[in-house]
Amino acid sequence: MPNKFLKLKNYITKKMSMSHIYQPLMLIELLKGNGKASAKNISKSFLSYDETQIDYYKKITTLMPFKYLSKHLYEIKKSKDNYFFDGFDLTEDQKVELINVCSKKLEDYIRKRGIKKIFGHRTLASGIISGSIRYKVLLRAKNRCESCGISNKEKALEVDHIIPRTKGGKDELNNFQALCYTCNSQKSNKDDTHFKKILESYNHRKKGCIFCNISKSKIIKSNELSVVIKDNYPVTKDHCLIIPKRHCVEYFDLYQPEINAISQLINEMKTELQKKDKTIKGFNIGNNSGEVSGQTIFHCHIHLIPRRKNDTDNPRGGIRGVIINKQSY
Ligand code: 5GP
Ligand code: ZN
Repeated sequence: MPNKFLKLKNYITKKMSMSHIYQPLMLIELLKGNGKASAKNISKSFLSYDETQIDYYKKITTLMPFKYLSKHLYEIKKSKDNYFFDGFDLTEDQKVELINVCSKKLEDYIRKRGIKKIFGHRTLASGIISGSIRYKVLLRAKNRCESCGISNKEKALEVDHIIPRTKGGKDELNNFQALCYTCNSQKSNKDDTHFKKILESYNHRKKGCIFCNISKSKIIKSNELSVVIKDNYPVTKDHCLIIPKRHCVEYFDLYQPEINAISQLINEMKTELQKKDKTIKGFNIGNNSGEVSGQTIFHCHIHLIPRRKNDTDNPRGGIRGVIINKQSY
């Protein structure tokens, strides 16, 4: 039986697979601590190598504290990756006093809000989001906050589960949104029952509703929350309806994940139709909400109407045609 040292050395040099940086870093921490290391210190060691986190906080620095500090304290400046007080001439005592008042503010704030809440959106509980999902969500959001619309350039965007994983939300594109840190931190902390109700309501189907009971053979395409079918009385060839699976009466009843799901199918369908039919040169996307607007089937649906040259004498104004004599202007 080899001694402990040789066993460890043999493992490290010969057996330890290097699929990541974690194993050697954990061993270094254990060795430095004479055989002991807290999970926190091991994690901090990983963090010190994680450039993606540094990059994230570099961005936060510019977008958050620097933006406000430089607005109120003109002497705080930036030059490339460095920040500085212009003409810094405080005494040692003054410096210590200011650090102390900053620390006091910090402690009070953390005590009031709780450190877990401050970084809640970045916790494991909210789910690790893979790089490829992040990319897809940001691409779909066109790099803007899906709540207030601010650009990623002005405020750092977080990719966030709409229904948290801990409350049964899935790791599907529909259940993600890009939010700026302000909208993310203001997101109301809905309680368990609320999320549970939303999740249950996705299964709601109404007896006798034709769009709740579409036969499988009629479904052209679907995703987790919505389906596409052909319209039975098409306005133009391949007129489609994109329909949420859940029974809801009108567009305004849709949940954000359903809007995302529907939008995804509209885009997929548009691409497919144009690929197979080169005469399609445009589309009308429309929704009738409420009887006065013309809605006849009271399960929300979005019309995707392919348009071709000369499919009508005077297409100008398009959807304005809902009030016939106002279509053209
Ligand atoms: P709405 O007027 O409610 O916006 O649109 C209802 C649409 O559903 C109409 O365009 C109509 O042609 C279509 N539609 C009506 N009944 C059926 C049906 O049983 N199956 C399908 N696929 N479409 C239908
Ligand atoms: Zn229905």
